Amino acid sequence: MSQDPNQTLDVDAVHRLAQEHIAPIVQPDASQGVNRAMIKAFTRLGLMAPFFAGEFGGTGNGEISATLLCRYREGLARVSPQASTALATQIGGIFVVARHGLHAVRKEWVPRVVSGDVVTALALTEPERGSDVASMTMPATQAPGGWRLSGKKVWIMKAPDADVYTVFARTSGAGPRGITAFLVPKGTPGFTAEAIDGLWPDRIGNLFFDDVFVPDAHVLGPVGEGFKLGMAIFDAFRPSVGAHILGFARVALEESVRYAGQRRAFGQLIGDFQAVSHLLAEMATRLEAARLLTYEAAAVYDRGDTARIKSASAMAKLYASEAGQYIVDNAIQVHGAVALQKGHLLEHLYREVRASRIYEGTSQIQREIIARSLLASQR
Ligand SMILES: Cc1cc2nc3c(=O)[nH]c(=O)nc-3n(C[C@H](O)[C@H](O)[C@H](O)COP(=O)(O)OP(=O)(O)OC[C@H]3O[C@@H](n4cnc5c(N)ncnc54)[C@H](O)[C@@H]3O)c2cc1C
Repeated sequence: MSQDPNQTLDVDAVHRLAQEHIAPIVQPDASQGVNRAMIKAFTRLGLMAPFFAGEFGGTGNGEISATLLCRYREGLARVSPQASTALATQIGGIFVVARHGLHAVRKEWVPRVVSGDVVTALALTEPERGSDVASMTMPATQAPGGWRLSGKKVWIMKAPDADVYTVFARTSGAGPRGITAFLVPKGTPGFTAEAIDGLWPDRIGNLFFDDVFVPDAHVLGPVGEGFKLGMAIFDAFRPSVGAHILGFARVALEESVRYAGQRRAFGQLIGDFQAVSHLLAEMATRLEAARLLTYEAAAVYDRGDTARIKSASAMAKLYASEAGQYIVDNAIQVHGAVALQKGHLLEHLYREVRASRIYEGTSQIQREIIARSLLASQR
């Protein structure tokens, strides 16, 4: 664990930093592309360095502290869910490179991510292979001095703007063995990308590989071992999806409490209707339960409790994203029609929370992971 002073920043301290430095530079929608000023601000505020080793410009030991990542994401998401996502994708997009890249490749790319000069992305999903990551088919075929990639990756956060991508492709066989991770910089001949316009209020896109040559030096980790490296990212980052949701779901709850104490109907405050006040009670209870699961999963990861990490992270991600959906949906219910107006905070959060039950493994996949771990001893 690093000794960086930012290790002691709690959620409230990150929230204050975000109010002062991030709120003024938030972009209203994704069409303006990746917010590079925000990514630079993370570095200035010291939010990147603890996740990287000193030799790459960080202040940590190269290990991810899931608890720290949760605290940062929760504090940022109270001000801007986009900021919380951008921090996670920046660290997640370079995670495999920082751990498994050749030393020269790490030296070339990781310091530029830590300094906020390079935007990263992670590409696993294919049009026909989403949840079933292990069955991905995009081929990487061996060529003199490297590999040639052909095919398509879809729903990639920060595409098409990211500068460097960690891309997973099939180098042999079928199933989890035979997948390899590659580093592919933007601008590589044959590699193109496009933005997707969707419900999610953040930058996302598709990637196209037309016989793209990737040199051997850009292979990340052992050939055929990419699936394990990809799954390690989920172990580290899934608890932080919970923290991301905690940040903005809390705002939705606070706004609802405030509104219930001001809005009148039938001659009384709506908060005095039990039907409304009990909604608030349920929202608060689910938020607290999500908090406990999230930080417990982060602690399990940080303790290196490998027997529990997959299940604990899946529970946190499952519960927090479902609770977040409940909270934001009912925050809209408490507000009535006004919250559905384009540009209203809750309209924005509704679009934000919906995607969280799909990315980094759908709710159904989280239940599969939990069930598999429960039944493992019986098989
Ligand atoms: C906002 C957003 C950001 C994303 N960012 C990235 C990114 O940066 N990089 C990246 O690689 N991908 C990313 N994705 C893709 C994401 O990981 C996939 O969408 C997700 O894994 C689900 O795959 P799918 O959409 O193809 O759905 P499918 O896998 O086709 O699933 C369709 C439905 O079937 C259910 N289902 C599938 N298998 C099972 C099963 N075994 N048991 C029960 N139900 C099952 C699913 O739960 C779902 O309800 C992102 C997606 C979104 C929405």
